[in-house]
Amino acid sequence: MLKANYHTHTYLCGHATGDVDDYVNEAVRLGFKELGMSDHAHTPEYFMSADEYRHNFLEEIMTDDEFDNNYVPKVLEAKKRSDIKIYLGLETEYFPEFKDYFVKLRKKVDYLILGEHFFNYKGSNYSPYDPFTPRLAEVYTDIVIEAMESGLYTIFAHPDLFLMNYNGENGHRVFDKTAEICSKRIIDAAIKNDVYLEINANGIAKGARRTDSGKNQYLYPREEFWNLVSGTKAKVVIGADAHKPEALGYFAVEKAIEFAKQFDLNLCDFVEFKK
Ligand SMILES: [Zn+2]
Ligand SMILES: [Zn+2]
Repeated sequence: MLKANYHTHTYLCGHATGDVDDYVNEAVRLGFKELGMSDHAHTPEYFMSADEYRHNFLEEIMTDDEFDNNYVPKVLEAKKRSDIKIYLGLETEYFPEFKDYFVKLRKKVDYLILGEHFFNYKGSNYSPYDPFTPRLAEVYTDIVIEAMESGLYTIFAHPDLFLMNYNGENGHRVFDKTAEICSKRIIDAAIKNDVYLEINANGIAKGARRTDSGKNQYLYPREEFWNLVSGTKAKVVIGADAHKPEALGYFAVEKAIEFAKQFDLNLCDFVEFKK
């Protein structure tokens, strides 16, 4: 059982159920000490083409108006009323070319989670949910490192998402030299910039698939990545990435805790927030 969770969505993102209070009540019921709400932040339309915007399901995510008049007041109200500690957060990608937007977002919340579900490269938008090449893994790595260096993000959600559909030198879902170099660079940047790396339970809920190692592995988290985190002082946190209230304490969270035990990790029950 977790003592806290900082990765929590609501119905406002268009692909989750439950409102702020439903998550707070469930967290209290489970005996959590802290709960961070981190719904998906609005992504402006001008970040990519209309087709790409649709491909990333961004029309469904909360608008600025919903953020100001629905999400924020509800989280602030919960902060006041609740017996446990509540934090106001957002999960968002990073686009170096639109840094100002993320600086503004950061000022509106207690913390930002980095979840790099898509990014721009040479005039097109790419997502690690789609087939991914070694070159795209390098671009993903460059961008998330820049994000961590910006000081805007407290937690990096599913940092190993780039491995989910990675087609390496010798095939699909292989962990090759490029994957290893990218993983190490991400881990080093997390340590240097004091960003928590997240073991994501939602990836576990999505199931397992055979990798080129011949083993069945979760879509994410991936063992090869966490083997490299093992033994380092990188701060690690388990994130439910809850898209329904009961996901704060369901089987995937238990499996994430079990998964973490295989490694020598600096696992943190609570996140310390910087100003
Ligand atoms: Zn989501
Ligand atoms: Zn995510």
